[in-house]
Amino acid sequence: TIEFVRATQLQGDEEPSAPPVPNQAQQKESIQAVRRSLPVFPFREELLAAIANHQVLIIEGETGSGKTTQIPQYLFEEGYTKKSMKIACTQPRRVAAMSVAARVAREMGVKLGNEVGYSIRFEDCTSERTVLRYMTDGMLLREFLSEPDLASYRVVMVDEAHERTLHTDILFGLIKDVARFRPELKVLVASATLDTARFSTFFDDAPVFRIPGRRFPVDIFYTKAPEADYLEACVVSVLQIHVTQPPGDILVFLTGQEEIEAACEMLQDRCRRLGSKIRELLVLPIYANLPSDMQARIFQPTPPGARKVVVATNIAETSLTIEGIIYVLDPGFCKQKSYNPRTGMESLTVTPCSKASANQRAGRAGRVAAGKCFRLYTAWAYQHELEETTVPEIQRTSLGNVVLLLKSLGIHDLMHFDFLDPPPYETLLLALEQLYALGALNHLGELTTSGRKMAELPVDPMLSKMILASEKYSCSEEILTVAAMLSVNNSIFYRPKDKVVHADNARVNFFLPGGDHLVLLNVYTQWAESGYSSQWCYENFVQFRSMRRARDVREQLEGLLERVEVGLSSCQGDYIRVRKAITAGYFYHTARLTRSGYRTVKQQQTVFIHPNSSLFEEQPRWLLYHELVLTTKEFMRQVLEIESSWLLEVAPHYYKAKELEDPHAKKMPKKTGKTREELG
Ligand code: ADP
Ligand code: MG
Repeated sequence: TIEFVRATQLQGDEEPSAPPVPNQAQQKESIQAVRRSLPVFPFREELLAAIANHQVLIIEGETGSGKTTQIPQYLFEEGYTKKSMKIACTQPRRVAAMSVAARVAREMGVKLGNEVGYSIRFEDCTSERTVLRYMTDGMLLREFLSEPDLASYRVVMVDEAHERTLHTDILFGLIKDVARFRPELKVLVASATLDTARFSTFFDDAPVFRIPGRRFPVDIFYTKAPEADYLEACVVSVLQIHVTQPPGDILVFLTGQEEIEAACEMLQDRCRRLGSKIRELLVLPIYANLPSDMQARIFQPTPPGARKVVVATNIAETSLTIEGIIYVLDPGFCKQKSYNPRTGMESLTVTPCSKASANQRAGRAGRVAAGKCFRLYTAWAYQHELEETTVPEIQRTSLGNVVLLLKSLGIHDLMHFDFLDPPPYETLLLALEQLYALGALNHLGELTTSGRKMAELPVDPMLSKMILASEKYSCSEEILTVAAMLSVNNSIFYRPKDKVVHADNARVNFFLPGGDHLVLLNVYTQWAESGYSSQWCYENFVQFRSMRRARDVREQLEGLLERVEVGLSSCQGDYIRVRKAITAGYFYHTARLTRSGYRTVKQQQTVFIHPNSSLFEEQPRWLLYHELVLTTKEFMRQVLEIESSWLLEVAPHYYKAKELEDPHAKKMPKKTGKTREELG
């Protein structure tokens, strides 16, 4: 067991003894009655009046008050979509955009994709008729490319503004500008937290509309001592809550798919072993890549007598509201991007979440009745180790993508762009340098023809460069596949706990000399040859859903080839050409083997091949990687063996022959002789 101590209480707006809000999902009442029960409903008229009277309105309200699902509907009912004018509502997360759009379509009694739809990268569920458009913030950003003044939009609602994602932050600057030229455009900025003053100031002191909260108090508990293994601690605590606490569902915050799947498996495993000694516990995961039918399950009411535990990423912090949660279990971590502008290295790391985040999470326990939040860290750690708020993404990510987009929109002077919080100067500079090296910008910082094409493709600049380069190496068929497979990254292979050996063997069977990109290509090609069969996936421990998604992405990219003047062609098995095309995009991400292991070529950073890589034991002298992931070490994920001479071929302006000389060439052992276990 884990010992928790009760320390503080998150104040509620309701008395702890007040009767609990009926669990809406379990109510037999009509969907309209549920709508009327939401905190925003009594303010409908007042809100619509405020929107009518102001061009920009900041809306602040507790999560679950109905901002996302109700306000666009109010606007629709009020006639804002007359003459086919559209309403955009942006979400930082794909899952949220899909899920709320589905919910709103149901509330309005229309088919998803008709009046209400969503649009996320590589998936467009909208039609000519779609006037309520839920979309990721990144998609609205791309809308500017085809419609710089957003002329077909009557209202833009930037939702979840407190998340301060890179795309949301950039949207702020662009929308503020458009609003000046289009006085009839309504701008709503919706946020769950109290940080709305910043938004108001940014939008020339726009008024703030507050939707009063309705939250019960939440008792906060901390562990007595730090927990070494928070995953294990999570599982133990969930069972502890299940056995000792009165009815009410549990929400657990973990950092990503792998962790969530592991936790769910552990929980199911232990429940099975406890058998009828405990009441039924429904274990439900929710994360970005979860298929939508599985996502929908978290919203289904818990059967009487049972308890539901939802194991979620940050998505459940503010983007999604699940009814019936009374207990929150918070290990205090989230996965965060970090970026070092000095080295140009971006990595995804599990880091402690902020206090603001921890309190949002705790708040999720008090929606229907007084709740409890169990934090898997000490009160001291909360006080002394957590940051107050999360640093906005714009200050901890690479900006290549965004700079390319802004340049395509004709915004040249990026230093003076209207940022809510400006990115570090070095990061901007490095983005410009990288785009120059990729040939997207000329020496004056102007967009080149190639840069214009790169901006057309909805992928990172390096990936678009790789696709463009496939023209030169006549291998666009293969490169499209590689690009598609890379974008469903890390969810291709299935590795069930009880069949680890079989699964690993199946994976090794796909290995091809050259590296992981070719392995991905191999998996896809064989799958295509099987007639895109699900049975084939099952037999080869490949995730059918990921493959299906890769196929979708591939089709969409293929559809864009003509626009960027790349013809379809195949390398006919000459994989050197494929590898060169990949190198043409990723020459920034290269490493060489030195006597002390791998070092990145330019910055001399120490890096390691991920143990899952097909090249883990090969240890080639030169390689490129798709991405870096920092766990225990800085791991390169998806690596490809290259030759140093290719770097001179694909990026002569970036590499000089001298820096690619290999002084230890003769002394290098080909293999280190160590096993996976020793190194991993
Ligand atoms: P906010 O944006 O203010 O956080 P929402 O509009 O997302 O609030 O949520 C309002 C209500 O709609 C919540 O009570 C939530 O439970 C419900 N809801 C949202 N999405 C779904 C869904 N997919 N299924 C069932 N209920 C949902
Ligand atoms: Mg919302």
